[in-house]
Amino acid sequence: MPGFSNVVEKSVQAMSIKYNNLVYDMKRSGTEVIVLSLGEAYFDIPLCPMDDLPFPAIYHYSHSRGVFELRQKICEYYARQFGVTIDPETEIIVTAGSKAAIHFSMMSVLNPGDEVITQEPTWVSYPEQIKLCYGTPVQIPYYESVYDFEKYLTDKTKMIILNNPHNPRGQVLSKQELQYLMGLAKRNDIYLLSDEAYSDFLVGEKFYSLGLFDREKSHIIVCNSISKNFGISGWRVGYVFTNAELIDQILKVNQHIITCPPTILEWYLVKHYDEIIQITYPQIAAVVNTRKEVAKYMDQIGLSYLPGSATFYFFVSIAPSKLTSEEFCTRLLLDEHISVVPGLGYGMSCDAFVRVSVGTEPIEKIHYGLAKLRELIEKTS
Ligand code: PMP
Repeated sequence: MPGFSNVVEKSVQAMSIKYNNLVYDMKRSGTEVIVLSLGEAYFDIPLCPMDDLPFPAIYHYSHSRGVFELRQKICEYYARQFGVTIDPETEIIVTAGSKAAIHFSMMSVLNPGDEVITQEPTWVSYPEQIKLCYGTPVQIPYYESVYDFEKYLTDKTKMIILNNPHNPRGQVLSKQELQYLMGLAKRNDIYLLSDEAYSDFLVGEKFYSLGLFDREKSHIIVCNSISKNFGISGWRVGYVFTNAELIDQILKVNQHIITCPPTILEWYLVKHYDEIIQITYPQIAAVVNTRKEVAKYMDQIGLSYLPGSATFYFFVSIAPSKLTSEEFCTRLLLDEHISVVPGLGYGMSCDAFVRVSVGTEPIEKIHYGLAKLRELIEKTS
């Protein structure tokens, strides 16, 4: 066999997807599993009418920046929700999920050997995407603060990635923190890439988009998704906005790799954007409130987790268990049929943690699963 690409061969599977594949296999063989590992919240959304979509345009390629009307909808959303102005003609591209938006942005700015900084717990795909661009991931341990980032900068640093609100911490960056990071990026002439995939998963607190801190968008790249806020992760529609020059670079990547997102889905979203948002918003609030309840429960039973208030995730400590996070999760899954994701997938400083997602199970099952998790910590410490 002629062999593989070194960079792909060295890359690892996404830890969360690896565990969720195990869950799919167990469920297929008839085993019931309490799923606290999935990276999405399940919403009740209807199938909206499709007969008013523009026919036959839905069968064909669309503009490779995305259907203009969808770009307009997204720009209106950012203006209304977050006060960020984006030009739908020149400053945004709709692509195949925010994963592709992030990767195509990296491909457009990184050169071999460039360093990209992330903070642990680091969402599983950032380091692998950086490596696929021949860049070098630099991961800051979870216990550092935003104000410590500067000491990780070198003359090779090209980008800092922010995940705001954060999966899996649930942390939301404050205005002051974002202002500080923006200053750091401008002083050092590097990009700040903000992954805002969970931008609506907050209750009773304000979300500041990075778009507010650099009107020219010269040092910012913002990626977002319809997977989470619309509850349609399987549709693979996401977007990126930044300055027009960089968008023109990303456009070439988009054209050569996907041409455009699926046209029928873009048109469906144009037609039903506002309706779907109205249906999902109360459900988003409900899942964030579930998170608050679960936080109280964990406090009661003595489980600790990194501080945060948004999304539907927790990064839960399994210390003082003597098991590695992978051993811990495998045992919890095989013995108790409860799935959570090993912390190690989120960085070297995170092996004493697991990620718990409360987006798909009813509260009683979440409580049961967490009580069993607590028991396993005790049994193995
Ligand atoms: N960013 C983060 C932080 C995520 O958790 C996810 C999905 N798990 C994504 C991006 C990718 O989302 P999409 O479905 O839009 O590719």
